[in-house]
Amino acid sequence: MPELPEVETYARWLRGAYGTPGLIGRQVRRVRVRWPAAVATPDATLFAQRLRGRTVQAVARRGKYLLWHLENRETVLIHLRMSGRLRWADAPPNEAARHLRLALELDDGRWLLYEDPRKFGRWWLTARPTTVLGHLGPEPWEISPDAFAARLRARRARIKPLLLNQRFLAGVGNIYADEALHRAGIHPARAAHTLTSTEAARLLYALQEVLREAILAQGTRFDAAYPWGTYQQYLRVYSREGQVCYTCGARIRRLRLAGRSAHYCPQCQPRVSNA
Ligand SMILES: [Zn+2]
Repeated sequence: MPELPEVETYARWLRGAYGTPGLIGRQVRRVRVRWPAAVATPDATLFAQRLRGRTVQAVARRGKYLLWHLENRETVLIHLRMSGRLRWADAPPNEAARHLRLALELDDGRWLLYEDPRKFGRWWLTARPTTVLGHLGPEPWEISPDAFAARLRARRARIKPLLLNQRFLAGVGNIYADEALHRAGIHPARAAHTLTSTEAARLLYALQEVLREAILAQGTRFDAAYPWGTYQQYLRVYSREGQVCYTCGARIRRLRLAGRSAHYCPQCQPRVSNA
């Protein structure tokens, strides 16, 4: 599932990084919605009508949302969820193309294709993006260590699932939560309010570092859902159950927390505070 670094990589790619012409300054010539439920708002027909003829002025990201700011002050928002992905094509999509949900033709003749095998991803077109983004908490670089520690002290939830809660913190998902907790030496099942201010600061810096490094690596390649990125070679705990910890040599373990798995090192991340 694309997290902050993968969505940031898409934003940079749509701005023309990585050697492909981007979306900035391009006008949308045609919109084909193959699967109407991919559009959350307005309805798919209206979405296609209103997007046609619009020019993309800027591409941004907030949490795990991609934002295209249009010249008429409306915004396209995209959440890729489990398996949404974008790619360029030089020709219109084949009618038989599997997993294609939406396609846009630009004024330079290129097509931007949106594929989503599992169909959880959503698009919005709105003049008020806060109606979609308003619930999001701060990103890890938008909060001070003191404020982060205070927010943790107010929560009794376990730290790993809390980091995945987008209202608490925006952008962090399963991979980078596991990696940051390992880097900070904090057990994923610790109750948030038991973290000391030293641990809270260590965790915040670990989140910032892990996300920055993953952005530089253009994210983590997992499967067809995100076939780019090289951060998988730097993962220290995520998907490494049973393998040795690079820091201490103990075996990485996995446990279930609130329906999600957490990977951790029992020696580097003890159950009780060591700060
Ligand atoms: Zn270890």
